[in-house]
Amino acid sequence: MERMIALARQGRFDSEGPAPSVRPDIEKVYALGEATKHDICVSTASPRSVSGIDRIGNVCAGGICHAYAHDGRCVSMFKTLYTNACTHECAYCSNASCSSGGAVYSYTPHELASLFMDLYRGNYVEGLFLSSGVGADEYETMASMVETAEMLRTAYRFQGYVHLKILPGADRDHIRRAMSVSDRVSVNIEVPSSSRLSEICATKDFKTDILRRQRYIQRFVSKEGAPAGQTTQLVVGGAGETDVEIFKATVREYHKFGLKRVYYSAFTPVPGTILESQCMQPAWREHRLYQMDWLYRIYHYSSCELMSAFDCSDHLANTDPKRAIAQASGLSPVDPNIASYDELLRVPGIGPVSARRILAARTRGSIRSRKELAAMGVVMCRASPYLSLGGWHDSLLARWMA
Ligand code: SF4
Repeated sequence: MERMIALARQGRFDSEGPAPSVRPDIEKVYALGEATKHDICVSTASPRSVSGIDRIGNVCAGGICHAYAHDGRCVSMFKTLYTNACTHECAYCSNASCSSGGAVYSYTPHELASLFMDLYRGNYVEGLFLSSGVGADEYETMASMVETAEMLRTAYRFQGYVHLKILPGADRDHIRRAMSVSDRVSVNIEVPSSSRLSEICATKDFKTDILRRQRYIQRFVSKEGAPAGQTTQLVVGGAGETDVEIFKATVREYHKFGLKRVYYSAFTPVPGTILESQCMQPAWREHRLYQMDWLYRIYHYSSCELMSAFDCSDHLANTDPKRAIAQASGLSPVDPNIASYDELLRVPGIGPVSARRILAARTRGSIRSRKELAAMGVVMCRASPYLSLGGWHDSLLARWMA
C-alpha cells in the first residue's frame, strides 16, 4: 500500500480537485485497511492458502478488495475504515471499546478523499468501500463518512463505485444523504436475532440500531427512489447461532428489507477480543450457507423446501445442500425431454444455464444421450440418479447412446 501511494503520487496526474494531496500517516493507512478484513463486500475468495502479505492472491491483507458492479464488471476497491475507534462492545471485534486493541486512528474527510483520488488516478483502485467504528459517537462519524463521499462526488467529480457502511444507530438524514451519493449501502446485522446480539454485545439494540436503519433504507429506496440498494453481513457461529437461525434471518432480510445480498463470514477469533479463545468456525459452514442462499435467490427454492437440508441439530452438513434436499425429499427421476424449467433446476448437477440449454435443445429435437447432456453443462455424475429417458434411469443411463 505504501508503495502504491508513493507510485500514485510520483505520477503526473490531472490535478483536478479542491486542494493538493495530503500525506496520510502510512501506519494509519495500514491499520484502517487491515481492520476491514472481516467486512465482506463479495462472496468470492480463493480458499488457497497464501503465505506472506506480499504474495499475489493473498486475501488476508486489508486495503484492496473486489466487488461486482451492477453491470457485472469486477471492480477493485479501496477498502478501509474511517476510524477504528468504537464505543460499542461487540465481543468478537478488535475495534470494540472492551478489546485490548492497538493505536486508534481516524481520517478526516479531506485526507481520505485525497488519498482515494491518488490511488484512483494511479489506476490502482476503481471504487471505495468505506466502513467504520462508530468513533466517539455515531452522529459525528457518519456525518464525516457522508462528507467524504459527497466530496468525492462533487469536489472531485468522481463517478465510480462507492459502498458506504451505515453505522448502527445512524441518523435518518445521514442515511438519506449517504444513499444519494452511494451505489450500495449496508448495515451489518452480524447475528440473526435480538437474543443472539445480547449474548455478544450489551451496547447495541437489534431492533432500533439495526433493523430500524434497514427499514429507513428500504423506504428511501421504495418511496423516494434512492439509487443505492442495501446488503448485510452475518458472522457465522460467533454467538453460537445455528444454521437454521442464520437461514431464517437471511429469508427475513430478503423479504422484509429487499436486500440485494446477504454475506456470511465464518467466525474467526481475534486476539485481544473477549472471544479470542472461542473456536474458529470452519470455512465450509460459510460456503454451505452461500449455497443455500443461492438456492433461495437464484433457483427459487421455497424456504420450506430448503428446511429439509438441515439436520436434527439445525445445522447443515458439509455436503451439497441441493443433493441433500433431493435425497431427503425422495426426488423422482425426471425426463429432460419433458421436464419443466423448475423441475430441471431441482436436479443436482443442473443449474440455470444448463436447464436453459436443455429447453433450447428440445426445440431442435429430442435429447438422446448422456453426452448431449454433458455438452450442455450437466454434471452427469450428480444428475444421473435423478434423470430418466424414455423410462430408463440411473444405472440404465450408462446404456444411453454415447
Ligand atoms: S459496532 Fe462495529 S466496529 Fe464497533 S465494536 Fe461492533 S462490530 Fe466493532
